[in-house]
Amino acid sequence: MTPFVYHRPTQLADALALLRDEQARPIAGGMTLIPTLKQGLAQPAALVDLAGIDVLYGIRLADGVIEIGAMTRHYDVATSPLVIAHLPGLADLAGQIGDLQVRNRGTIGGSVANNDPAADYPAAVLALCAEVVTDRRSISADAFFTGMFETALEPGEIVTAVRFPAPRRCAYAKFANPVSGYALAGVFVGVHAEGTRVAVTGAGPCVFRASAIEAVLARDPAAASFDAALLGPDGLASDLHASAAYRAQLARVLAARAVARLT
Ligand SMILES: Cc1cc2nc3c(=O)[nH]c(=O)nc-3n(C[C@H](O)[C@H](O)[C@H](O)COP(=O)(O)OP(=O)(O)OC[C@H]3O[C@@H](n4cnc5c(N)ncnc54)[C@H](O)[C@@H]3O)c2cc1C
Repeated sequence: MTPFVYHRPTQLADALALLRDEQARPIAGGMTLIPTLKQGLAQPAALVDLAGIDVLYGIRLADGVIEIGAMTRHYDVATSPLVIAHLPGLADLAGQIGDLQVRNRGTIGGSVANNDPAADYPAAVLALCAEVVTDRRSISADAFFTGMFETALEPGEIVTAVRFPAPRRCAYAKFANPVSGYALAGVFVGVHAEGTRVAVTGAGPCVFRASAIEAVLARDPAAASFDAALLGPDGLASDLHASAAYRAQLARVLAARAVARLT
């Protein structure tokens, strides 16, 4: 690990001022960033710890929208009565992330900013038409996740919250890597007044919507299975954990499980 200066501001404005330095990086729970530093894959000159900034925490409901502060831990999302009542699929998803230690340190802001292709939250953010709120704008989920570990965030821009409009129903189904807990594939289904959205994580280089499965659900909201023509291996990831064909099969089965779980 190369040396760096450590800052722990208590005001958002102070953090943003520190992050104007292009060599500075924000740190949330450090669940991804600290291993990255240890391996020398990132060598920031300064770390700006967001943990002391109170306005980045908390879960609120206003006008049918649940806003979750960027520093809110996975454990707090999983156990929040508000989330359980309005976004049961999201509470279920957060409770399946990694293990208890990871859920007690990892944050929703760090997870969406990192956009790991196997992370769980991106599927919920995309299927639930969420808005990622930053210090300078609000970005729709459709525009936020731009590629593997890539997002629409600009240098020095930080996620302050994620806003989820309450869906009619939602559910998540995941097949976890037994070692890490990350999704080999995970499918989130959100049913909205405007239609049903189905988002797949873990299977490809970046979270994506399964539009052919969405079209089937528009005709038959309780469809119990999805055939291979609706989601094939093209463009999916193939590695030592699973082939693209296996991931496609998993995603189709998980989509059916998520539909069956809709509450
Ligand atoms: C053993 C293990 C198992 C895991 N299993 C899963 C799993 O099953 N599913 C899953 O989804 N995830 C999993 N994770 C990931 C974990 O849950 C965290 O969500 C993820 O590592 C991000 O961690 P963090 O919030 O501590 O962010 P950090 O590690 O602190 O930061 C991650 C990145 O985001 C940036 N960042 C942090 N906060 C912000 C912000 N507010 N605005 C802008 N940029 C920001 C940082 O600069 C850094 O680049 C696992 C991690 C570990 C170590």
